[in-house]
Amino acid sequence: MFMITYDCIVVGGGPAGLFAAYNAAIGGNRVLLLEKNDRCGKKLDITGKGRCNVTNACNNEEFLNNVIANPRFLMSALSRFNTEDTVAFFESWGVATKVERGNRVFPESDNAHDITKALVTAAETVGVEIKRKRVSALLVENQKIKGVRCGSEEIFANSVIIACGGASYPKTGSDGSGHRLAESVGHKITEIRPSLVPLVSPDKLCRDCMGLSLRNVGLSFFGNGKKPIYKEQGEMMFTHFGLTGPVILSASAHLQGQYPCTVYIDLKPALDEKTLDKRLLRDFAEIPNKELKNAFSALMPSKLIDPFIALTGIDPETRINALTKEQRAKILSLMKAIPVRINGTRPIDEAIVTGGGVDCKEIDPKTMQSKLVSGLYFAGEVMDVDAYTGGFNLQIAFSTGFVAGSSV
Ligand SMILES: Cc1cc2nc3c(=O)[nH]c(=O)nc-3n(C[C@H](O)[C@H](O)[C@H](O)COP(=O)(O)OP(=O)(O)OC[C@H]3O[C@@H](n4cnc5c(N)ncnc54)[C@H](O)[C@@H]3O)c2cc1C
Repeated sequence: MFMITYDCIVVGGGPAGLFAAYNAAIGGNRVLLLEKNDRCGKKLDITGKGRCNVTNACNNEEFLNNVIANPRFLMSALSRFNTEDTVAFFESWGVATKVERGNRVFPESDNAHDITKALVTAAETVGVEIKRKRVSALLVENQKIKGVRCGSEEIFANSVIIACGGASYPKTGSDGSGHRLAESVGHKITEIRPSLVPLVSPDKLCRDCMGLSLRNVGLSFFGNGKKPIYKEQGEMMFTHFGLTGPVILSASAHLQGQYPCTVYIDLKPALDEKTLDKRLLRDFAEIPNKELKNAFSALMPSKLIDPFIALTGIDPETRINALTKEQRAKILSLMKAIPVRINGTRPIDEAIVTGGGVDCKEIDPKTMQSKLVSGLYFAGEVMDVDAYTGGFNLQIAFSTGFVAGSSV
């Protein structure tokens, strides 16, 4: 004999869990949210470098173009709760928002904790009970959910929503336990890998240029084939271990294990080789007696100049008027394609999101309910859904949290 105390238990107090709990409770359900950390939204508080890029002000079609894994699965959820709904929700709970470059939406305060606070306040206001507990097992009988186990304690409910997040940044709480809970009741977990993660390079260039950011550069990643695996223009940064920055993170989501590979950095993507050659000739004509090491200040950041010249193999003290045609051609080709070898990625602990998760084929996209265990639901990053940077991942948490919470 067991006593049903709750209509719904939500496992995990991140954005997906808090929003699912809120929506379940406004439907009139008795809702318990269990969070293993001493507070909810530990990861949410560090999103967007502490500013929280909470969503993206784009339409549903553009949104789905920015989803890497399983965009079709998310179509229904997004049509029921989209980016405008997210902005309206936070405005209604007192968080004014603003739109920045790339349609990225942030709280006007630039404080991620305002988003966490609004979610916790909203959930508590509609009666969600929040307790600090770690869920260690699911209670299932005849393929129907009965509740959860927290150590030796069993808590019973008619429905359970798993919103434990993925496996990245485990110090924030998302340590992969949601995957293990789902697996224990028969769900398939697709391969877990770091996504939106910095890339590792053995090249000295990265260490020499550590800390240098390059804006508006072109990046083309090549494996064994002649066609690039990924090509994009934007911002990147050199670090002591390799490369990071927005385009690098997006590339990591695409490369998906295709290592080693090489990325070619185009310093002047707006100029084709012919135009750049003309510019070099013009610039060099004005400084015929300068040494090469003093000739690049208008062409690239100063930190890059010495490592760049080292790559050309030309003596840095060579005078401009002594450069051979071949040497100028070498400079030109490197300006259009500095090669950096890539060995792999940083570990999943440092990934912004987790690639892989609970297989979406086993979840009903209209309700987020498990197709295997009745009364079991999923929300957020624990599922095999992930997107590029730009506020898309948090919107996935809100859209799927909305659907799961309103379906219980
Ligand atoms: C540094 C960083 C910056 C980011 N910036 C952005 C950004 O600006 N915009 C954006 O859209 N996305 C961003 N993301 C991604 C975004 O934070 C995640 O996609 C989002 O937090 C996922 O929400 P979630 O609720 O599914 O999981 P999480 O936020 O990971 O929350 C899961 C919660 O479940 C709890 N939990 C786990 N297991 C258990 C258990 N067994 N029992 C009880 N509780 C449990 C955890 O403690 C955690 O609180 C960023 C990620 C990182 C790491």
